[in-house]
Amino acid sequence: MNLGRFPRLRFGHLPTPFEYLENLSRELDGPEIWIKRDDCTGMSTGGNKTRKLEFLMAEARAEAADIVLTQGATQSNHARQTVAFAARMGVDSHILLEDRTGIQSTGYQHNGNVFLDLLHGATLEHHPGGTDMEAAMAATADRFREDGRRPYSIPGGGSNATGALGYVNAALELVNQANEVGLRIDHVVHATGSTGTQAGMAVGLVGINSGVPLLGISVRATKSIQEDNVFRLASATADRVGCPGVVDRSDVVANSDYVGEGYGIPNEGTIEAIRMMARLEGILLDPVYSGKGMAGLIDLIRTGHFKRGQNVVFLHTGGSVGLFGYTDFFDLPTERHAA
Ligand SMILES: *Cc1c(COP(=O)(O)O)cnc(C)c1O
Repeated sequence: MNLGRFPRLRFGHLPTPFEYLENLSRELDGPEIWIKRDDCTGMSTGGNKTRKLEFLMAEARAEAADIVLTQGATQSNHARQTVAFAARMGVDSHILLEDRTGIQSTGYQHNGNVFLDLLHGATLEHHPGGTDMEAAMAATADRFREDGRRPYSIPGGGSNATGALGYVNAALELVNQANEVGLRIDHVVHATGSTGTQAGMAVGLVGINSGVPLLGISVRATKSIQEDNVFRLASATADRVGCPGVVDRSDVVANSDYVGEGYGIPNEGTIEAIRMMARLEGILLDPVYSGKGMAGLIDLIRTGHFKRGQNVVFLHTGGSVGLFGYTDFFDLPTERHAA
C-alpha cells in the first residue's frame, strides 16, 4: 500500500490511544469492549476528519489554494476541523452550511461547531435543507475564481479517495496496536455517514488480509444505499492505493436501525448511549454520529449479536463539540448538591 508516497500534512495527534472500556464491558456483561480514540486526533479538539484532512489539505497546499471551501450540516464537525486546518495553514476558509435538521434552538444555530467555525476565522453561508450542496459549493467556487482567488473544494465529510487514505492508515494503526497488546479483534464498529471512514477502514483491513469484520452504523441512509455508497468509495480508494478490486461488496456491511427520525436528530437510544459513556467511562460521545454508533453497539450487545468471549472495538469518530448544540435534548438536573 505504501501510504508514505501520498502528500500529507502531519497535523494530527497520531497514533490515537487504544483503550479497554472496563466499566461499559462490565455493565453490558457481553463482549470485551475496546475503544480506538479518534476523538483525540487534535485540530480543534479532534475527530475523524483530522485523518482525512491531513491528505486533503496537503493536496490544497500542492495546488497553492488560497481559500478552502467545504460544506455540511449546520453542526458539521468536518467544517469545524477544515477551518482549523485552514487557519494553521494560513489560508482562508469558506463554509456552506445546510439546515438539514430544522432545529431552531440558539445552541444549535450558533453554539458548538458554528461558534468554533467563526472563532477559527471562517466565513459562512447558509442554505435551506434539501439544497444540492455540492452544486452550491461549485457555484461558490466559480464566484471565488472570478474574483481571482484559488479555491480548493472538499466534498462533504471529506469523503473522496484522497480523504479516505486517512482511514486506510487508521486501519493499519489499529491492527498494529491490537497486535502489540496481543488482542484478537473480532469486530470493529463505528458510525458511518459520508462513507470515507468506512471505505478507508475496509481497504486497510481487507488489504492487509486482517480478517477483521467491520460494521458501520448508519446515521442517515438506509442499509443498502449506505453499503453501495461505501463500496463505491472503497473501490476508488483501493485503486488509489494500488490494490484494485481488493474490497468485495460483501466486505461492506452497514446497519441503519439506529438512524431514528433522521440525520442529526438524536433519539432515546442516542441519548442513553451518550449518558452511559459519560457516566461510566468519562468519555464524550456526540448526538449525530458517535452517539448513534454506540447506541447501535449497545443494542447489538443486549440482543446477543455480540457475545461474551468476543473482543469488539468501537472506533470513536469524535464530535463532542456538537453536544453544545444539543443541550436541550438532555433532561439533566440544573444543579446537584452534596447531601
Ligand atoms: C463525519 C463524522 C462521522 C462519519 O464519518 P464518515 O467518514 O463521514 O462516514 C462519524 N462521526 C463523526 C463525529 C463525524 O464528524
